[in-house]
Amino acid sequence: MGRTKKSKIFQAQRGMHDILPEGQKYWHYVLKKAESLIEDYGFEKIETPILESTGLFLRGTGETTDIVEKEMYSFMAKGGDDLTLRPENTPGVVRAYLENGMSVRPHPIKLYYFGPMFRHDKPQQGRYRQFYQLGLETLGDDSQAADAELIFIGHKLLESFGLKNHSVQINSIGDQNCRPAYVRALRDYYKIQLKKVCVDCRNRFKKNVLRMLDCKEEGCQGIKKDAPQMMDFLDDDCKAHFKHVLEFLDEARVPYMLNPHLVRGLDYYTRTVFEFTPDDNPSDAIIAGGRYDRLVDLLGGRKTPATGWAMGVERVILAIKDKNINVPEAQSKPKVFLVQLGDAAKRKSLLLFESLREAGIDTKSSISRDSIKSQLRIAHRLGVRFSLIFGQKEAIDGTVILKEMDTGIQETIPLEKIVEEIKKRLKK
Ligand code: ATP
Ligand code: MG
Repeated sequence: MGRTKKSKIFQAQRGMHDILPEGQKYWHYVLKKAESLIEDYGFEKIETPILESTGLFLRGTGETTDIVEKEMYSFMAKGGDDLTLRPENTPGVVRAYLENGMSVRPHPIKLYYFGPMFRHDKPQQGRYRQFYQLGLETLGDDSQAADAELIFIGHKLLESFGLKNHSVQINSIGDQNCRPAYVRALRDYYKIQLKKVCVDCRNRFKKNVLRMLDCKEEGCQGIKKDAPQMMDFLDDDCKAHFKHVLEFLDEARVPYMLNPHLVRGLDYYTRTVFEFTPDDNPSDAIIAGGRYDRLVDLLGGRKTPATGWAMGVERVILAIKDKNINVPEAQSKPKVFLVQLGDAAKRKSLLLFESLREAGIDTKSSISRDSIKSQLRIAHRLGVRFSLIFGQKEAIDGTVILKEMDTGIQETIPLEKIVEEIKKRLKK
């Protein structure tokens, strides 16, 4: 007989992770706090499909971005549709807004989403191929107040997680009127430095010079220092908008730093751009966003001003763990453990368990275990106040034994009175 071949154990894809039961409390903590705060500010949840037409991202994310050039999971589906696993959700939200006639509802429309995004990124700490974003979008509001509100919410949100020591880096990238002169100035500046920049940046110079300011290579960072700044090119309207956003932030005591080279390298982005970064690691953004007044019309709608941000949830959780922030267990501690012995009791115990659950008494049980010893061991480990012992005799008599775990005192109680009795004792 030959050796039996062990069957292969599959592994998750590189850069993609399981979120195990013991990790859930962090997700619960972040999501609960975020949803409550965001909804208080009038944002409504929207969920869109994970798969969209590839064309939506070519246009809505931009063909000259890293995301579209290098990071998309695209494929031909059965039937020949060219689909992509969403790398970000703003184009999907705008598509849904247009497709579902939301553009005729009273504006502004304030939406938020939470879900997985997919990018063929280089996996490392805080950078994955499947990761979760929570994002906000305000559609149909061109005011500086809308930008400031979003930034303020981001600030309050990080604070509510217990993450202090974060600042907003902020800049304005102007609009269609004033940005072209800046782009020309940038091209003039970089033209004579082309030998010194990285290969990617030489490519960016040809396709989208603004994105050279986004390069993470050390050599390119050095050259960026002396590059022209958009601030010097803003026209009066853009300048006033930016000034007012900053006044809002001053008033609301949101700490910010002007970053004159912060950009979003696409034409539909306008005016305000910002990133929240930890003070001890300013290159690792937790939240990134900005105004995108031209995206809705680029995707076929009427010209509609809009502004938004997206938060990387894994990066938030890494920061929460790093700072040893105390995160409560996702599930509350059970108060009662139901021990069942013998088939008759097991059959009846489903309904007993349900009546306790319905009454709001947090109960655990282990229906597949047989010995009283092993079940009481679990009860002790869970730290419950009471165990209910439900055996053959009790099942026939219609009673159950209530055992107080601290003292070990036991008492037999009629089944129909047990919920009442536990409620009474839990109050003490
Ligand atoms: P980077 O320059 O770090 O690649 P980005 O510009 O691609 O970031 P955005 O598209 O603005 O990032 O996404 C918003 C936020 O989503 C980021 O600030 C970050 O917190 C998170 N994020 C982006 N890409 C990843 C990833 N691959 N893994 C985990 N989180 C990510
Ligand atoms: Mg990226």
